[in-house]
Amino acid sequence: MGTAPNRVKAEEKSSPPRPQVVYAFYMSNGATGLSRRNGLAGPAAKGVDRVLISKTRLQRRVKELAAQLSVEYANGEVVCVGALNGVICFLADLVREMDIPAPVELVHVDRFIDEDGHTVEMPNPFRESLRGRDVLIVEDIVDTGVTLKLLEEKVLAEKPASLKVCTLLDKPAHRIVEVQVDYVGFSIDPVFVVGYGLDYEGFYRNLPFVGVVDSAVWPPALLERPKFDT
Ligand code: 5GP
Repeated sequence: MGTAPNRVKAEEKSSPPRPQVVYAFYMSNGATGLSRRNGLAGPAAKGVDRVLISKTRLQRRVKELAAQLSVEYANGEVVCVGALNGVICFLADLVREMDIPAPVELVHVDRFIDEDGHTVEMPNPFRESLRGRDVLIVEDIVDTGVTLKLLEEKVLAEKPASLKVCTLLDKPAHRIVEVQVDYVGFSIDPVFVVGYGLDYEGFYRNLPFVGVVDSAVWPPALLERPKFDT
């Protein structure tokens, strides 16, 4: 029997030099006792100015929404359609609190912005048939309403028995198209929020709370991307 190669050494040999990672963060949240307690002091939250909705409030509200939905669809099932990636935390927590069958259908939203403004495309969004079924669109946030409107049109084209919308966050002041939202977790002011699935440039999704990024540093250069030696 041959000797197992030393994996660590083999990787060390073949790996390119480790990239130098430089993060330039605005540190508005000093390591005060309060910051530590509310989660703002950790590296994952660097650049986040304040907690808007705490983990406790999120959990409580998600349970309330799930209880409402369990009553609404008590006699059957509801297919929960969520648009990736922002909805991951909310959808996962919501369906686990729902006491009814709740199949999940995830779609990718590819967004293109042209000279007319905000447009959205979603090729081949659904893998299973929604025809004749009760469907609930689950959103992380409804801002202008453009994404929701398009998702609604796609779902309606599948001829569901019913369609309702549940969003964790709603920013009604930013609306540019009319959409009906049946269940709202929190109605918030038009500020840019991150956390609990919502990102900025891919960061912050894993924060357990919803926070606000300081407008003084937002945008453009909150984060300096990792630098790679060439
Ligand atoms: P809408 O089409 O309603 O303008 O925007 C919906 C999408 O925009 C959301 O699904 C989300 O991806 C993004 N979005 C809108 N507002 C915010 C925000 O405050 N924070 C983050 N991270 N994304 C947002």
